[in-house]
Amino acid sequence: MEYTKIENYINGEFISSSLETMDVKSPTDASTIAQVVLSTKNEVNLAVEAAKVAQKDWKKLSYKQRAKFFFKYLVLLEENREDLALCIQQENGKNIVDANAEVDKAIELCEFACSIAQDDIHSISEVSNGITCSEQRRPLGIVSSISPFNFPIMVPHWTVLNAIMMGNAMILKPSEMTPISAQKMAKLFKQAGFPDGIFNVINGGKDAVEAICDHEDIKALSFVGSTPVAKIVYKRATSNLKRALCLGGAKNFLILTPDAEPKMAVSDIIASFSGMNGQRCMAASVLVAVGNCDHIISKVVEAVKEISNDNGLAPVISDSAVTNLNNYMEKAQTAGAKLLVDGSQYATNRKGYYTAPSIIDYRTGGAMESEEIFGAILEIKGADTLEEALLEQNNSPYGNGTSIFTQSGKVSEDAVRELEAGMIGVNIGIPVPREPFSFGGIKDSKFGYGDITGKQSLNFWSDLIKVTTKYSGENKIDWQS
Ligand code: NAD
Repeated sequence: MEYTKIENYINGEFISSSLETMDVKSPTDASTIAQVVLSTKNEVNLAVEAAKVAQKDWKKLSYKQRAKFFFKYLVLLEENREDLALCIQQENGKNIVDANAEVDKAIELCEFACSIAQDDIHSISEVSNGITCSEQRRPLGIVSSISPFNFPIMVPHWTVLNAIMMGNAMILKPSEMTPISAQKMAKLFKQAGFPDGIFNVINGGKDAVEAICDHEDIKALSFVGSTPVAKIVYKRATSNLKRALCLGGAKNFLILTPDAEPKMAVSDIIASFSGMNGQRCMAASVLVAVGNCDHIISKVVEAVKEISNDNGLAPVISDSAVTNLNNYMEKAQTAGAKLLVDGSQYATNRKGYYTAPSIIDYRTGGAMESEEIFGAILEIKGADTLEEALLEQNNSPYGNGTSIFTQSGKVSEDAVRELEAGMIGVNIGIPVPREPFSFGGIKDSKFGYGDITGKQSLNFWSDLIKVTTKYSGENKIDWQS
C-alpha cells in the first residue's frame, strides 16, 4: 500500500493545501508511510462552514431516510473489510487478527446506527384529558470527535455514525499518528452518497484540537485519549460552553480468587493484558490475587514466557512507547519488585518498535505506581481478603474496566456491588459492552455525563425537546387550559 499526503476532507473533497506536514511512521519497520497535514484554525473554520450548509438539509430528513445512507455504508464496510484491516495494521502495527476484529466492530457499530431508525426515539403520552406530552430528539448542529491512535477505525465509528444519524454534521480529528484509516473512511462516506459536508476530516494535533474547542459553532465534542489531554480538552471545551464527553486513560484491575475456573482465568488474563500489546484502554493492568492463587499465576507466567519467545510479535506504536515500558520495569525492579517475565529483553531482527509482554510481581516488595502504563505489563498484587482486593481497584484514580474471576455467585455479586468502575465483568478479561449497551468509565477515565456508544450516546448527540399539545377545547381540563 502506498500513500503520499494525508489531506483534510472538507465538503466532500480532499483538500490539497500548503500546510505543514508530519511523517506517519510504520511501527512495524519504522519507515515513513505518509505525510499528514497539520491543520490550523483556518481549516477548522472551512470545515465548519461546509458542515453548516450541509446540516441544514440533513436535519430535515427522517431517521429512515438517513438510515438509507448508512445501509449503503454498511455494505461498503463489509466489501472493504480486508483493505481497512491492512490499513490499520500498517499504520498502527497491530496484528491482522486484531485489525480484522476492529473492522468487525465498526461493522457492528454501523448496524446499530442503522437500527436507530427502527427504535422508538420519540415518546408520546396522554397526560391529561385531551392533552399529550411528547419528547423529541433534535440534533445539536455541528459536532466533533477527536480520536486516539490505538483504534483508528473503531473509535471514530463509536462517535461519527450515531452523531450523523441523529441529524448532526461531524468534524472528525483523528490521531496524527494513524490518520490513514480516517481518509479511507471519508472515501467510503463519499461512495455511500452522504451529502458533502456532513462528514469532514481535519488532520493535525494540538492546534487543530484547540481550534475545535474554541469554535463557537461547534456545539458538542467527544474526545478519546489519555487522561491528561482529556482533562485539558474537557476544560477548554466546556469553558467555551460546549457539551463535552472526554474519555481518558485507565488502569484496569482483575481480581482473582482461588476458586476461579483455572483454564478460563489463565487464557482471559493473558489475552486481556497482552492482546494488542496492552494498547487497549480496557486491557488488564493489575492482577490482584486474593489469598493463594499460585496454581493459576504460575500457568500465566509459564504461558507468557512462551509468548515472549515468539519472534513474530506485533510492535507498539512508537520508539518512545518502548522506552517508557522498559523504564517503568527498571524502576519497579529498583523499587524492590520482582520481574517474573521481562519483555524488555525481547530480541528481534526487525527495525520497528518491539517489546514483549512482561509480568511484575509486587507481592514481595516495591510499590506499584498508580498511573496508566499503556503497554503489555501485568502487575501482580496480593490481598488477604476480597474487601482488600476490591479496595485496590477502588483506590485507583481510574475507573474504566474491572473484572472478578470466581465460581461463587455470592462473591461475584458482592464484588459487582462494590467495584468502582464504569464497566464491570465476571469471568471475562475485557468487559466491553456490546451494542445496544453503552461504553464508558467513571472517575479519571471519563469527564462529562453519559456514555459514548449505544443508546446513551443518542442522548449526548441530541437535545430532548418536550412538546405539549391540546387537541380539543371541549374537553374538561383539570390543571391547565
Ligand atoms: P493522546 O491523549 O495522546 O491523543 C488523543 C488525541 O488528542 C489525538 O487526536 C491527539 O492529536 C490529541 N492531542 C494530543 N495532545 C494534545 C494536547 N495537548 N491538546 C489537545 N489535543 C491533543 O492519546 P493517544 O496516545 O493517541 O491514545 C492512547 C490513550 O488513549 C491511552 O491513554 C488510552 O487509555 C486512551 N484511550 C481511552 C479509551 C477509552 O475509551 N477510555 C479508548 C481508547 C484509548
